[in-house]
Amino acid sequence: MYEMEIENIAAKGTNEEIYASLLQLTKDMMQQKGKIQGKKKVYYISAEFLIGKLLSNNLINLGIYDQVAQALEKHGKSMAEIEEIEMEPSLGNGGLGRLAACFLDSIATLGLPGDGIGLNYHLGLFRQEFEQNLQKEKKNPWITDKSWLRRTDVSYPVIFGGQTVQSVMYEIDVTGYDNQCNTLKLFDLDSVDESIVDENGISFDKEDIRRNLTLFLYPDDSDYQGQVLRIYQQYFMVSNAAQLILDEAVAKGSNLYDLPDYAVIQINDTHPTMVIPEMIRLLLQRDIAIDDAIAIVSKMCAYTNHTILAEALETWPMYYLERVVPQLIPVIKMLDVKAKEKYQDERVAIIDKDNRVHMAHIDIHYGFSVNGVAALHTEILEKSELKPFKDIYPNKFNNKTNGITFRRWLLHCNHELTKFIEKNIGDGFKKDAAELEKLAKLSGDQAALEELLAIKKTKKLEFKQYLHNKEGITVDENSIFDVQVKRLHEYKRQQMNALYIIYKYMDIKAGNKPKTPITMIFGAKAAPAYTIAKDIIHLILCLSELIANDPEVSPYLKVVMLENYNVTYAEKVIPAADISEQISLASKEASGTGNMKFMLNGAITLGTEDGANVEIHQFVGDDNIYIFGESSEKVIELYDKSAYSAEKIYDENPDVAKLVDFIISKEMFAVGNKKSLIRLYMELVTKDWFMTLLDLQDYIRVKEQAFADYEDRKQWAEKMLVNISKAGFFSSDRTIAQYNEDIWKL
Ligand SMILES: *Cc1c(COP(=O)(O)O)cnc(C)c1O
Repeated sequence: MYEMEIENIAAKGTNEEIYASLLQLTKDMMQQKGKIQGKKKVYYISAEFLIGKLLSNNLINLGIYDQVAQALEKHGKSMAEIEEIEMEPSLGNGGLGRLAACFLDSIATLGLPGDGIGLNYHLGLFRQEFEQNLQKEKKNPWITDKSWLRRTDVSYPVIFGGQTVQSVMYEIDVTGYDNQCNTLKLFDLDSVDESIVDENGISFDKEDIRRNLTLFLYPDDSDYQGQVLRIYQQYFMVSNAAQLILDEAVAKGSNLYDLPDYAVIQINDTHPTMVIPEMIRLLLQRDIAIDDAIAIVSKMCAYTNHTILAEALETWPMYYLERVVPQLIPVIKMLDVKAKEKYQDERVAIIDKDNRVHMAHIDIHYGFSVNGVAALHTEILEKSELKPFKDIYPNKFNNKTNGITFRRWLLHCNHELTKFIEKNIGDGFKKDAAELEKLAKLSGDQAALEELLAIKKTKKLEFKQYLHNKEGITVDENSIFDVQVKRLHEYKRQQMNALYIIYKYMDIKAGNKPKTPITMIFGAKAAPAYTIAKDIIHLILCLSELIANDPEVSPYLKVVMLENYNVTYAEKVIPAADISEQISLASKEASGTGNMKFMLNGAITLGTEDGANVEIHQFVGDDNIYIFGESSEKVIELYDKSAYSAEKIYDENPDVAKLVDFIISKEMFAVGNKKSLIRLYMELVTKDWFMTLLDLQDYIRVKEQAFADYEDRKQWAEKMLVNISKAGFFSSDRTIAQYNEDIWKL
């Protein structure tokens, strides 16, 4: 019934007009589909939703993508050029935000009633630019009159330190694949003013809350004002959420005592934790007794832990909270007292002896479910990080291994591979990802394996084109694409990959030329105040320049650092990857989801036994993954005994020392910033908190093996096939089905 309309749109003049019309058509179709209904609804509250561009995915989920693409083609246009018009929403940072986006897609696809709740950041995280081999942060405005946002009349009063502000709610429709819609609800303040931000950077008056509240995701919190601003943001998010949830439940007939029959709240990491005391406060206002209020809210809230990094577990000084949310203080103190009455162990206290409030502890005491995001991660939570809690609440703990939506990470980003799969096993895998297993029958089928290699080549060529258009960089599609794209963090160990590059550079200089040239591709943003992370970016950019200017090495090795890595870039580079770098220090990467996207697109993982790599390894078997490095047990033991010494490894191991020393060589100083390079060198030699040097030599050994194996193209294609066929478990449809079965019970 939309044929005529699609045809008319495709016949329009400019790409902008076509985009605008498709946007409107899609919005109309989603409105027509209507909302997923049900008595009980899940509210997924998250500081981030890294949703990516939406047009193509919405067209796919509405079932009209092919029709639109064909109509465009008839008029000499392509979907790819229309997609270029859309701005990527800047509402997230990394894996946690992308997970939230995949979950919304799967919740709607499974037909479950469930909305996302977050904030409408005007300028996003930041847009990354490179200048003189350094990261520069620019604002990233993304909201235009052609965005997916819809302003609503919903508005709530939120108390800010004695004053009251009035929120406004925006919505973005989330359509399921062949299903109806849910919504992402984003709260904002009309008084927020983008003009208070520096012309050239991301600095602004951190104290002017009415004008700065929703400007940025994760505003710099390296000072007091920045930390207080984050609390304002968090409280604004959850106060709106709590009021909305109450309104919706009451409208459906709740008498408040039966709220848990109407609403379940998934608390995505600790950022939304204050929803617990806020909801209790609102119930008290409605004349519900304190013990009843606590019992009701405890039956509604479930918490997902995303990290064991100590510095990422939020604890707020009591006096910050007293300043921002004095109305919550009596509730938080009450929750603390009641927890202390039952459990004297100070490791499980909400308010510690330094008068800091442990947000995760509120979630665990007063939620009914605590989950980790991969088997190993949940095990570490239970056995060490959260052991005292596991001992008192053995039944609250459960694992939900992360997943990704195959609509975006296969159907949308890799049409060629999707067609290949359809041709061979039909299209049942689109609704039931486990059917990918049927691909196993193609093992040994030379024609199919060659087709798989040809698809990879096509995606490498496409990426080459995209990269050239965007950044003017040329890569060789016949080289091995070795890709590490993810946020920059020392625990993810991009610095170890950089040390491999130094190794390879020296090896080529010594006359050992790789059979197939290698292209090392990075993409990563560093938090603006994270000095060492920025130093690592600097190192990679310097190596890139040094190698490009060395005619002896450049025919065999190229280093590319993608500028402003985001979802759009991920969709281009992941299908083109041969090797997926997942090299975090064992025990530190809670799950990872990038690893799953690569696997699904036929890249082979080179990784540690960490996060979901462990499960990938179990599915594909030893022959179809490259594993290296010390185990998580060993790493945890080294931390417990303070037994790791980078200095010792450096002193005793000249092969390692040679690589690290190169960071401060005259060659590097010629292209780089001396202060930054020396700082990074010192960090690696004297501290190396995430144990780069521990695994470096094993990493080099196994990586060399992977490159050697790449030469046997048939064997490699078999590995690709196994990876794709075993990826079904990592569909977020499976993850969400488990959340629903064990936690939400919708
Ligand atoms: C998937 C994704 C991530 C998460 O990657 P990890 O390797 O799991 O850290 C981060 N950023 C973007 C843009 C992504 O698409």
